[in-house]
Amino acid sequence: MIMVQKFGGTSLTDEHSRQHVLRHISREREAGKRVVVVVSAMGRRGEPYATDTLLELIGGNSLPDREKDLLLSCGEIISAAKMCSLLNQEGIPCVALTGGQAGILTDGRFGSARISKVDPARILEHLAEDKVVIVAGFQGVTEDGETTTLGRGGSDTSATALGAALGASIVDIYTDVDGILTADPRLVGDARPLPFVTYEEICNMAYNGAKVIHPRAVEVAMRAGIPVRVRSTFSDNEGTLVTSAEHVRGRIGWTDRTVTGLAHVKGVTQLSVETRGGPPDLQLRVFRAMAQNSISVDFINVTPAEVLFTVSQTDEELAVRLLHEMGFDPRILSGCAKVSVIGGGMNGEPGVMARIVEALTTKNITILQSADSNTTIWVLVAEDDMANALQALHTAFGLHQAS
Ligand code: ADP
Ligand code: MG
Repeated sequence: MIMVQKFGGTSLTDEHSRQHVLRHISREREAGKRVVVVVSAMGRRGEPYATDTLLELIGGNSLPDREKDLLLSCGEIISAAKMCSLLNQEGIPCVALTGGQAGILTDGRFGSARISKVDPARILEHLAEDKVVIVAGFQGVTEDGETTTLGRGGSDTSATALGAALGASIVDIYTDVDGILTADPRLVGDARPLPFVTYEEICNMAYNGAKVIHPRAVEVAMRAGIPVRVRSTFSDNEGTLVTSAEHVRGRIGWTDRTVTGLAHVKGVTQLSVETRGGPPDLQLRVFRAMAQNSISVDFINVTPAEVLFTVSQTDEELAVRLLHEMGFDPRILSGCAKVSVIGGGMNGEPGVMARIVEALTTKNITILQSADSNTTIWVLVAEDDMANALQALHTAFGLHQAS
């Protein structure tokens, strides 16, 4: 049975954490698993081999994207070599591979490449030799042999793509928290680990800002039908099992939860353009200009009186300039945050919005805008209100209590 284990940056940061990593690898190996280990770069910004530290080596924009990917790919390679040496010291046979050597092929979009194909032949050979195969995450190679990186959270995708290609029985994502929690534990003190979530639920949480796992990684696992576990490097708790709704229902007779968890995104700017006095095709012109400049818009609300939407703070300047150039005078509200209430079973359940409004207004939090789908209700609040909003909603939906 093949198993993929992925270890994130904080799990590899120092000797102490790397000993935990070793423990998980040898435990599974002793249990008879063939183990493929995917590693991120060691540590976070400021630490010697972390991705951000490598970037700081180069000032400004002097490095073309191709060469930047060469630089960035080094962090994971160093990590793979380091783990290889630790396993050797323990007498565990192993081999370290770059993403390309591991058979991860990508397109040529440097900095945000997509995996096009995985050829697992070389990994399978090494596994047959009874070796632990350590793969540098976050990277691949193009058909032309160019090194590419997959963008933030890319190691998660390396792990699930390898899991899919190898037909792994499970992909374990090891990190610094006890699994997928009902909200970001850095903001909600009593956030609780969920024993299981469906692919859809976690994908939705991840797309709405829960950084614990990359949404693309979840999609890859979902398509291949491979279960994923998100769990802590620093304990033996099994964390959160991510699998299909059918699987979960079959096992424990579960029905969709109204609210599974909360997620948030900071750095959102709300823009509104008054329709009165403007040209008849104002709405079309606004959204066409945003699209032509690759500005993604959210919280769209078109009424006869105004066009209201949000953009990421990083796009604010450009968006405002485009609106001014068209002769519009937008109202700009910077410093907003999007808070998402996510649950597979909220569809058709009455009163969810009422509970959200009640929870927020009781805390004097203004809802600047809202939107909903069949699995999510989004509210826009001031960034300063975000943490309070998360805590209030978490309590209102009883997420701190075990289900
Ligand atoms: P790694 O280096 O292991 O990839 P990440 O920083 O990418 O770690 O992801 C783990 C972090 O995700 C946690 O430390 C936690 O603060 C954050 N996080 C945000 N939302 C959630 C959530 N719903 N459940 C668990 N962790 C979350
Ligand atoms: Mg991560």
